[in-house]
Order: sequence, then structure tokens, then C-alpha cells
Amino acid sequence: MPKIKITLPDGSSKRVEKGVTAAEIASSIGKRLAQDALAIEINGKLTDLSAKIDNDSKIRIITYKDKEGKGVFWHSASHLMTQAVLRLFKGQNIGLGVGMPIDIGYYQDYDIKNLTEDDLKKIEKEMEKIVQEHLKISQKNIAKKEAYAFYKKDPYKTQFINEVQGNKVSMYTQGEFNNLCKGPHVPNTSYIKAFKLTKIAGAYWKGDSKNKMLTRIYGVAFPEKKQLKDYLELIKEAEKRDHRRIGQAMDLFSFHEEAPGMPFFHDKGQFIWQTLVDYTVELMKKRGYEINMTPMILSKNLWVQSGHWDHFKDNMYFTKIDDKESAVKPMNCPGNILIYKTKSHSYRELPIKAGEFGLVHRHELSGVLAGLFRVRCFTQDDAHIFCTEEQIEEQVKELLDFVDELYGTFGFDYNLELSTKPEKAMGDPNLWKLAEEKLGSVLDKSKKKYKLNEGDGAFYGPKIDFHVKDAIGRTWQCATIQLDFQMPEKFDLTYEGKDGRKHRPVMLHRTILGAVERFMGILIEHYAGKFPLWIAPEQVRIITVSDKFNKYADKIMDELKLQGIRVELDKRTESIPRKVREAQIQHVPLILTVGEKEVKNNTVAVRTLDNKVHFNIKITDLIKKILKNIENKKEKFSV
Ligand SMILES: [Zn+2]
Ligand SMILES: [Zn+2]
Repeated sequence: MPKIKITLPDGSSKRVEKGVTAAEIASSIGKRLAQDALAIEINGKLTDLSAKIDNDSKIRIITYKDKEGKGVFWHSASHLMTQAVLRLFKGQNIGLGVGMPIDIGYYQDYDIKNLTEDDLKKIEKEMEKIVQEHLKISQKNIAKKEAYAFYKKDPYKTQFINEVQGNKVSMYTQGEFNNLCKGPHVPNTSYIKAFKLTKIAGAYWKGDSKNKMLTRIYGVAFPEKKQLKDYLELIKEAEKRDHRRIGQAMDLFSFHEEAPGMPFFHDKGQFIWQTLVDYTVELMKKRGYEINMTPMILSKNLWVQSGHWDHFKDNMYFTKIDDKESAVKPMNCPGNILIYKTKSHSYRELPIKAGEFGLVHRHELSGVLAGLFRVRCFTQDDAHIFCTEEQIEEQVKELLDFVDELYGTFGFDYNLELSTKPEKAMGDPNLWKLAEEKLGSVLDKSKKKYKLNEGDGAFYGPKIDFHVKDAIGRTWQCATIQLDFQMPEKFDLTYEGKDGRKHRPVMLHRTILGAVERFMGILIEHYAGKFPLWIAPEQVRIITVSDKFNKYADKIMDELKLQGIRVELDKRTESIPRKVREAQIQHVPLILTVGEKEVKNNTVAVRTLDNKVHFNIKITDLIKKILKNIENKKEKFSV
């Protein structure tokens, strides 16, 4: 038998017989890998484990741990679901629309009559049966003519066939069920050990409201039962922490039809927003930043020059000023560049760290808007660092330290990703390479672990992204550091070097919070509304046992206010338990009750977030502790 050479991702290689399958290679590497393998990537192309390898190849065995593996797994689960639907509703001529994996799980659209939420359980039961049947999943290419005949009653599949190039199409089969599909898929139905259908919704064919409304079923699936259990628990916990609900209970913000996707911050929400900005400014000042402010509307020409027009115009809003085409800024960079260009710069001034808390607008489809997580206008804690090539590493290092300090205050851990040149990139490939190497080397030197995301960089340069991990283990992309050799070129930015000649500065774009609004949403869910004292919009609520004690309560409130502590007084003639409950729903960290004993002893009773009551607390002692806790931005408060 002739031999071929297989190269694995770690660079090691093996000689194997020509025509060996991916499944066989996985087995030869290890039993565990053979069990976990879902698909294979051969020379960059994802395919089924049953694929035969005939030439020297670079391969990667794909498991559920890989992003691609999850995609294959979820896509296979959607086929499983469709097979169950077709079995259960045999009498109907069911059209099959789009089906695909999404962030978590998958969906499939059906042209089907009278399918309701109640049917989901039945479909799950049938899916379970198919899993037990261990049906082999196999692929073959068939002639288009044959495929048209097969789907002659299905206008959706017919359209899919029309869109395939060439005269063959790929068909997957499991048991009696055939599905026109590119794949790849897991080897058999028994792989899909745990699943749940989560939602049913309407969806237009091709997303176009002129087309017919189809029925979309969403589901999740996992290789192990425990993963499903953990996922469902996480969902329950996440619902409890939903920032939209908590935001309403705490009177932080609202949304209105009059400005869809754009948050309205109420007094308490604005306080949190402002506190985040103030804290970030404090850390910026320590590091020598200047802070600018630039207009929201700038001429179209500027956006053409910056390249945003080519790469970003679908997400921009436009208007006219004096008949001149203008755009509402989706980013702050060009504004900051104009400020840089107002004077000449010497190498002695560099690096220039120019910050801006700029309100940007980006168009998002109404379907993807989600509370503060996905909005159409937000404030970036943006900054642009203009420096020399030699200063890049030290500047990136400083930014890593900045991120550590700010995230540390919230107890956030994070994952790092380094993203490289995308397909739609501008600029010299050599500069790209240099920039990628610089970022990688800083991360290596600072001993930070990171994941490489090939092709996921910004159009003007590679970037480092930070994904913070919240209290329940979810991750959120927030901070980003982007290296940019292009913008200085396009805007002809210069500085005078030691040699008296003009040189090009390098530009770093960076945000730490990301969008202040979104970061606030993340914090609400991270703390489940129970903010640390320093950022809690209402730190103290005083509750009176009866009207008799109002005077004493007023006096205490004045003392607290005098120290800058945010306090409110609930004098209503409601019962104490009711007033306490309301304060707790609003997550007020310290609830002070005053009654007979407190007035007599000149003290207060303090209820903390853990629902413990501490009696006989002297107000001067309490104030001292509160102020110290705020100053140190402590996560917890103890009386
Ligand atoms: Zn498919
Ligand atoms: Zn920028």
C-alpha cells in the first residue's frame, strides 16, 4: 500500500496508508480523541470523519471543544429535529427553509401548518427515538436533476438547488430521511446525547417580509447530558439577572418607541454611567491621557478618506448640513485625528494619548437589539495613542496593565484573543505582518495566554480583544486594542523625528469598557443588581418605624448627605416589612431603620445585602466605614 504524510496541528507528522479515513487517524492517535471526534479539517476544508485522505495533507481533528465542532454538532441536531418533524407530520407536505447553527444551538424553518409550542415535547420524544436507532449519517453527491425530482413539491429546497453551482448537489441521509446539505455532519444520530427545543417563532423566508412566514424552531444540543443540565441552569440564573428587568426595578433606564434601540438613562442609571466614566478618567489621568470632545456629525468626505465609507456605511446614519452630505459618527477616530493635525508634533511629545468619551451611532437591525447589550447609540471610552514604531510594545504593555487595574476592581477575569488580517483588509501585507508580530510578542512577554483568531482583525489592523468572565461564567467581549498603520497614512499624520525629518506615527485604537452602556448592562447582570457601595446609585435608605421618629431620621439623612453619601428616606406610613422589601427589590445596599431604641441611644439598625441586621450602630462609625469602603472601591461592605 502506498503511504502518504499527514501533518497534525502541533507540527508533528505521521505516515499512513493512502485512503485512510479521518476516523481511523483519530483512533490511531488516541481512544479519547476517537470518541470525541466529530469532523475533520483537511488542508483547511471542513469535512466528514468518513472522508478518505489520498494525498499528503495537513489535518485537524475537530471536536465539540472547537467552534467548528459545535457548528457541526448543532447542525446535525437540526437534521435530527427535521427527521422527527417529518415523521410526526407525515400527512403534510412540509417545506424546508433555512436551518443552521447559531451562537448557542441551532434553528430550522418549516413551512408547516398549525405547529405550536405544545408540539415541541412530541418532537423531542421522536428525536430521542431516532438517537436510540443509531442511524448512520452518510453523504453522497447526486445529479441536480435527481434532486429537483426529489424536492418537486418543496419550493424552498428547489430554490436552494437553483443556487448551487455545478450540476451536482450534496445529499445527506440518515435512515429514511434525506436532506440536501453541504454538511459536514457527525457520523451517526447517537452522538446527539442531550438536546432541548427551546423556542418556536415566525420567520420570513429569506428574512424578507414580502415572503411567506415560516415556522422556526430553536434548539440546543450537547454531547453530554450534564452539559445540557448546566446550560439550562445557566439560562435560569441569567434570567434572574436580566439587566432589563433589574434596570426597571432599580429605575435605571428605559427604552421608547420614539428612539428604538437608544437607551434613556434615568437619574440612577446616569449615576452608574457617570461613575464608570469618572473612574476610567481617573485611571487615564494617572497614565497621562489628554481628553478631547469632538462633534457627532462630520462630513461624508472625511468618512470616505478614513475608509469607514467603504467598510462601514451600511451601519451608518446620514444627514445633510448646508446641503453637504454628512454622517453621524460610528467611531471617534477621524475626529481625534483632526485634533492631532491642528499642530505639528515632535518626537519628544510622543506618545500622545488622546481619549474621548464619544457618543457614536451604529445601525443595528431591529431584530438583534437587546437591552443595553445591543443598542444603536452608545458611548465608547475611546482613546487613540499616537506613537513611534519603537513605542508600540511599551504602549500595549501599559494598556494590558490598565485593563488589569480596571477589571480587577470589578473582580473580572478575562480571556484574550489576538485577531489577524481579515479578507477585506486595507494596506500593505508586510505592515500587517509586522503589526501582528508586535502584538503577539507583547502578549508572549507579559506571559498572557491568548487565542489566535485568524482573519478576524479590523479592516485597518490586527487587534487584541478581551473577553471578561462574569459571576456566572459567561464571557463578554469588552476591551480591545487595535494597531493601525493605515489611518496615519490616509490622513498624512506626521511628527518631527530626532533627525529633523518628518515621520509617520503609528496609531493605537483602544477601549477598555468597550461601550459604557453595554458594560453597565454586564455589571448589572454580574452583580445581579447588588452593586458595591461605590457605584450603587442609592447607597443608603432610611426607614422609619413611625412618624414619631421622622425628625431623627431627617437629622441622620442630613449627616449622611453632608458626607456626600447618596441616601433616601422612606417616611411613608407603610409597614416596615413592606418598606424593607421594596428597598431590597431595588438592591439598596444599606437599609437603616430607626425606632424608639435607636432615637434613645442615638444609633441606627443596619440591614446589609445579605439580609442580616446589625443593631446599635453609631452613625459616626457607620459614616466612617461607608466612606472608607467607597474610597477603596471594595466589593463587599461589612458593618
Ligand atoms: Zn444541513
Ligand atoms: Zn479609533
